[in-house]
Amino acid sequence: MLDSPIEYLKGVGPQRGDLLRKELGIATFGDLLQHFPFRYVDRSRFHTVREIAAAPDEHQQAQLRGRLTAPKLIGEKQARRITATFSDDTGSMELVWFKGLKWVQQSLKHGEEYVVFGKPGAFKGKLNMAHPELELASVWDSGIEAALQPVYRTTEKLAARGLTSRAIWKLQKALLPQIAGSLPETLGAEQVQWLGGITREEAYRQVHAPVDAQRLDLARTRLKFEELFFIQLGLLRNKQLTQQQVRGNVFAEVGEKLKTFYAEHLPFELTGAQKRVVKEIRKDMGSGRQMNRLLQGDVGSGKTLVGLLSMLIALDNGFQAALMAPTEILAQQHHATLSRMLQRMPVVVRLLTGSTKQAERKSVLQALRLGEVHIIVGTHALLEDRVVFDRLGLVVIDEQHRFGVAQRARLWAKSEVPPHVLVMTATPIPRTLAMTLYGDLDTSIIDELPPGRKPIRTVHRFDSARNAVFGFLEEELAKGRQVYVVYPLIEESEKSDLKDVTDGFESLSRRFPLPRYAVGIIHGRMDPGTKDYEMARFKKGETNILVSTTVIEVGVDVPNASVMVIENAERFGLSQLHQLRGRVGRGAEQSFCILMTGDRISSDARTRLSTMVRTNDGFQIAETDLRLRGPGDLLGTQQSGLPQLRIADLVEDQELLQQARQAAQRVLDIDPALSAPQHAPIARAIAERKQQVAWGRIS
Ligand code: ADP
Ligand code: MG
Repeated sequence: MLDSPIEYLKGVGPQRGDLLRKELGIATFGDLLQHFPFRYVDRSRFHTVREIAAAPDEHQQAQLRGRLTAPKLIGEKQARRITATFSDDTGSMELVWFKGLKWVQQSLKHGEEYVVFGKPGAFKGKLNMAHPELELASVWDSGIEAALQPVYRTTEKLAARGLTSRAIWKLQKALLPQIAGSLPETLGAEQVQWLGGITREEAYRQVHAPVDAQRLDLARTRLKFEELFFIQLGLLRNKQLTQQQVRGNVFAEVGEKLKTFYAEHLPFELTGAQKRVVKEIRKDMGSGRQMNRLLQGDVGSGKTLVGLLSMLIALDNGFQAALMAPTEILAQQHHATLSRMLQRMPVVVRLLTGSTKQAERKSVLQALRLGEVHIIVGTHALLEDRVVFDRLGLVVIDEQHRFGVAQRARLWAKSEVPPHVLVMTATPIPRTLAMTLYGDLDTSIIDELPPGRKPIRTVHRFDSARNAVFGFLEEELAKGRQVYVVYPLIEESEKSDLKDVTDGFESLSRRFPLPRYAVGIIHGRMDPGTKDYEMARFKKGETNILVSTTVIEVGVDVPNASVMVIENAERFGLSQLHQLRGRVGRGAEQSFCILMTGDRISSDARTRLSTMVRTNDGFQIAETDLRLRGPGDLLGTQQSGLPQLRIADLVEDQELLQQARQAAQRVLDIDPALSAPQHAPIARAIAERKQQVAWGRIS
């Protein structure tokens, strides 16, 4: 029944069926059923024309009853439209349509009584309503209308063919009686009970044709829970299977290298959080199971060092380790940092990136294969097939959310027993997202910054205050500090953005002239060699000001840089702003972040800026970011690996998500194989979902 092609549903047919498939991906009865309303309107109330005319702005949407007269097609070309007069006992207004004219013209009936519903507006001082929903009053009175009406997502093309939200609703109502008995329960009886006793079938019925607000609420909760529950169950089963089936290399040795490094070469005392996390990692890698661990920590919390100590454990047990970074600059920096810290230890660290020269590449690859390289640092280049290890034991992935799931999986192919994997995030991810995205990983959190850090002072300044800002930079430069000035660059190819950076560079060079000052510039269009050169100059303090695009966004570490100026700050996302700000505040000096914007900024941008000014806490910022942008945008939709949610919402349903995860964990705890009779519905549902759902992945 649910697999029946959508065109067979009464009221659809081949043409509309085709459109539904193309526009909304609705190919079957089941797909239609899963096309959930995104909101509901209360249609129990009526207004009069006079009431609306008195305060058109107060009525987001209004419902009226009256007579429709004089529909006519007027205007030329772009301005072509259909208008009609709508009157009740208190006055009249104009109804107007700009789209789907053919269909509207055919269906409007002059002189009939209608119920209209829509957003009132005004045109040339006269009350009107564009694209109202219409129903003949006689049909309305025949009683099929409910007080609570669902609103469905549709498209212009669909609406032009009469498939408005309202028409989709009618299709749902035609479908509901037919699916009786074909929606088996997927949850255990206890869970259904806990969810208010709403069966799956009833839930679908209530969602598309609610009887009252309370039942509707229960129904929606039940469907959301179900959706989240199966995602979490999938993730947790995955984790369970990995733990049972995938053997991990046992790193049992306490180890000479780790001990020596710790005792003699560690430049500072570890923070309590770093110690705890290293312990967690060590225990994991010694357990005989393969480690899949996510390390969350705010910018500057010292994740690199944790990565290094973990790699030393691998080395102590006779294995090689790899550290993978998302950009060349970052890979080079990591390579330099590790080489420096390990310079008096018998550890060979090498670098492999996309721009490694042929001869060097050959030598690195060979040394890797022979086991002569202990730690390899690199970019995506490490994933290539020709990169072969002698004994790869641990892979540390820095600044994860630029690495896709598929890339993670490729690592597995690199050794017989899969290496332990430690994923470090660039900035914290909100709990709910982490739970959904990395729900099959174990998590460690560094919730403490190294001591002595002064919180960065953040301010928002308008372009009109630029002179004062430059004056401030002058003072900081006079103290010997360095300054970043960052411009947005959404696409590396965008010309106007590029012009912003180069213009900025020129005007700063004029304001801060040689020989007293030196200004450098880095952007994505430069060749890697020049970029390295500029970066190195800044690191060595040969340039005082570095003008750049976001190529320096992630991970770059220059402790003497104490001012971060972000131009057009309104164009950056929150986590990006936070990440950029994290480039300063790395030394002992007081650091500053100056967010520059024009006078006019959107309210979302205002929220982002005020959040930045208010807090330095990456976890808080991540939560706000999630609320502002939604999960897809936060992670970059394509690569995110987030499952498609049809009804649940990772922002609104955080609590339900927790409950779903706990419920899934409980089920697996008492019945790992899902073979107990009370879990039969769950096991059946999983078997049916197998092909459709994308969560069946390995980490
Ligand atoms: P992130 O977590 O953002 O990757 P890094 O690993 O780059 O942070 O560390 C930020 C800075 O803090 C580095 O300069 C690093 O040397 C320093 N650092 C790391 N751990 C400590 C510590 N325990 N005490 C003092 N400084 C530390
Ligand atoms: Mg880092």
